[in-house]
Amino acid sequence: MNFFVQRSELRDLYDKVAAGERISEADALRLFETKDLNALGAIADLARQKKVGNRASFIINRYINYSNYCILSCQFCSFARKKRDADGFELSIPQMVEKAREALKLGITELHIVGGLHPSLPFSYYVDFLKALKALDSRLQLKCFTAIEILHLAWMAKKTVEQTFMELKAAGLESLTGGGAEIFRKEVRDAIAKGKESAGEYLDVHRTWHKLGGRSTCTMLFGHVESLADRVDHLRQLRALQDETKGFVGFVPLPYQPENNDIPVKTPPTGFDALRTIAVSRIYLDNFDHITAYWVGLGMKLAQVALSYGADDLHGTIIEEHIFRMAGGQAPQLQTEKDMIKAIREVGRTPVQRNTFYEPIKILTDGAPAADEAEPSPGKSKVLEDNLATA
Ligand code: SF4
Repeated sequence: MNFFVQRSELRDLYDKVAAGERISEADALRLFETKDLNALGAIADLARQKKVGNRASFIINRYINYSNYCILSCQFCSFARKKRDADGFELSIPQMVEKAREALKLGITELHIVGGLHPSLPFSYYVDFLKALKALDSRLQLKCFTAIEILHLAWMAKKTVEQTFMELKAAGLESLTGGGAEIFRKEVRDAIAKGKESAGEYLDVHRTWHKLGGRSTCTMLFGHVESLADRVDHLRQLRALQDETKGFVGFVPLPYQPENNDIPVKTPPTGFDALRTIAVSRIYLDNFDHITAYWVGLGMKLAQVALSYGADDLHGTIIEEHIFRMAGGQAPQLQTEKDMIKAIREVGRTPVQRNTFYEPIKILTDGAPAADEAEPSPGKSKVLEDNLATA
């Protein structure tokens, strides 16, 4: 038994996890309430080891926000703008293609694309940008849209959610993002994101996508006005949908960022809170393979530590993140592959470059160079070339 757990009040939960038993919501609340972060981390680390072994992953990707115009005004949001605002933007399809073309030279395998709920862009804009981006390289994976964007697109185009998905999928959509979950309990949702889709609608959009064979990630925005019981309730609903569809490939807890919004909480979650939330998520979400430490919100140093508290993924290289930065996030907009590999190796794990579905592209055993240390091939994605070579 782990040294930190031997005399801990959490020893019974360590035994449960070791025996492969599922923990209850009451257990999850106990874990959230403990001050014994070392014991909590040890239990999460055990759960992580049993699930994924010694690997920790990252993805080489690029974010593109196609527009920050939004018809809603969620209280916590620092990103959305109205048409009258000077710093509102919307990208043309050629502008998006240019950003993607540049990023392909850096070896990206995924584009992560979200935006606000735009008041007027036609459905054809979304279909056409997916097609144009896919035409750049058919192996480039397109992870796009939050659940509320899908509802908005369906509503604007007068289509069902299922029809909307089928048309976007035919154009190149491969994965749905997990954004917009916030906290599911209605009272908290009303306080931070009034007017946004309900928890039931968020889960229904993901359920529909999963039933069409799609895969997605899911999130939880923590550290604002919610209680610890609200976090447990949120995780409970995600675990239940995962039991039903098995369609989530990973869970990404997102620490709240306090600047430039209307929520009366002026500090981001502490390191203690971030680590315990990642740890409880790993232990409670026993039907999820992957828990991501989102370095954009945590900072790379804390994200690295989180690899010993249940996380097995550092997310992506990203390039040009807007949403967290406009809310005061201080992390840089890009992590190099080399930095991610170093962070993973330092904590004793084997780095794995993954694809959108958390499947390994490349396992970087000791001494293997990062793609950004290798000779680039002009105008081509090094990583995609490697994929082809190993296919
Ligand atoms: S969180 Fe999303 S839906 Fe809400 S205001 Fe911001 S961009 Fe719009």
